[in-house]
Amino acid sequence: MTTITDTVTAEAGSLRVDDGWLVRVTDLKQYAYCPRVVYYQYCLPGVRPVTYKMQAGIDAQDRVEELEKRRSLREYGLEEGKRHFNIVLTSARLGCTAQVDLVVETGAGTERRLLPVDFKMSRREPGRHFRLQLALYGMMLEEAWLAPAPEGVIYLIPVKRTLRFKLDKRLRTDAESMLVAIRTMVMQERMPPPTPQRSRCVDCEFRRFCNDTI
Ligand code: SF4
Repeated sequence: MTTITDTVTAEAGSLRVDDGWLVRVTDLKQYAYCPRVVYYQYCLPGVRPVTYKMQAGIDAQDRVEELEKRRSLREYGLEEGKRHFNIVLTSARLGCTAQVDLVVETGAGTERRLLPVDFKMSRREPGRHFRLQLALYGMMLEEAWLAPAPEGVIYLIPVKRTLRFKLDKRLRTDAESMLVAIRTMVMQERMPPPTPQRSRCVDCEFRRFCNDTI
């Protein structure tokens, strides 16, 4: 595991990071599914292979990017804007790193706005953790690109559906709190309890490490 020697300070809705170690924003989804999955990924490095399903998702996203270049921005409720694909962001303030599938930049000067778009291989309405991820994308964009990101979009690839969300204060605060929880868990190398939804353990690739779930 990466050596972590410094400290993290969490206060209500704020996060101060004093080391160079960054949480991946996509970990929020895994953490919401089962915190132990994230614990294993950080504390047992190299145990997770890229599965076929993950590779299929990557391939599908490549195709969507090609199609996206020909789509109208009206899908996002916009008349015009500039598209930026696969934007890599890091925030020392938040202590996280991310790659945003698409950022649509609109307006200029004080009217300039940023819209993060996340492509998902799902037909279903996304869970709250996806909105938390979106909020972090917005916060990281605001910090790096110096313009407001008041909203974000999740695009469901299989059903070609666009869902637009406000990145409000509550969502942002909750996202920061989850980052703090992940960071504290990993830095203290404290294994969390198993998920109470044991049906998730049946096909879990980490099941061999979880002897207490059988
Ligand atoms: S086996 Fe169950 S408790 Fe263990 S990591 Fe997988 S989902 Fe979590």
